[in-house]
Amino acid sequence: MREGLVEIFQETYRELRPAASLPDLKIEFFAFANVNNTIRLREGRLLVRLSDLLEGAPESVLCAIAHILLAKMYRKPIDARHAARYRKYVASHDIVRKAHLVRQIRGRKRLRAPQGYFYDLDAIFEDLNTRFFYGLMARPQMSWSQIRTRRILGHYDPAHNAIVISRVFDHPDVPLFALEYIVYHEMLHLKHPVKLRGSRRCIHSAEFQAEEKLFPELARANAFLRRL
Ligand SMILES: [Zn+2]
Repeated sequence: MREGLVEIFQETYRELRPAASLPDLKIEFFAFANVNNTIRLREGRLLVRLSDLLEGAPESVLCAIAHILLAKMYRKPIDARHAARYRKYVASHDIVRKAHLVRQIRGRKRLRAPQGYFYDLDAIFEDLNTRFFYGLMARPQMSWSQIRTRRILGHYDPAHNAIVISRVFDHPDVPLFALEYIVYHEMLHLKHPVKLRGSRRCIHSAEFQAEEKLFPELARANAFLRRL
């Protein structure tokens, strides 16, 4: 356990919720496949899991992630300076390289670039990340499919930490919201890993489906996909 980490979370908690009593805190570093951080409230106790890629991060970055996670937990607005500090750190060369090494251990896959003819999947991911996930999701390898398939519109491959989107969507006739919906769906797969329930694989859990309904242009996107 890193020295002073609990204190950072406690101070941040007091700043965000000055009137509330301080809950018990359990913080651990966890070997996620990517730069992922989670927070949960269980029986009055806050459980925080930080990516082990942040273990050596400077204090200002740990303050930023404490702020982001606690603001998310208690639905408070995120301070833009903290958000920027965290994103900058994660995007920094060192972290990207480390995450890349972790992925290499899990094997290589030939992937196509995120920049298509019309749409840039990295930019779409980051925009959705900010709008729906507090900027907390670490970007996996984003790529267009090799062939223009209408059968598989998108998929998330956990073994390679990659989101692959059908090249059908890289076209000026495709509205941005339809492509965003496909990417958003795959991001939810990243957020809600497949659970084994008996022998049946529960791919779209109730939580997954509830969160998918939060996409504001869901009806328009589905209407477009039906005509595809
Ligand atoms: Zn799905």
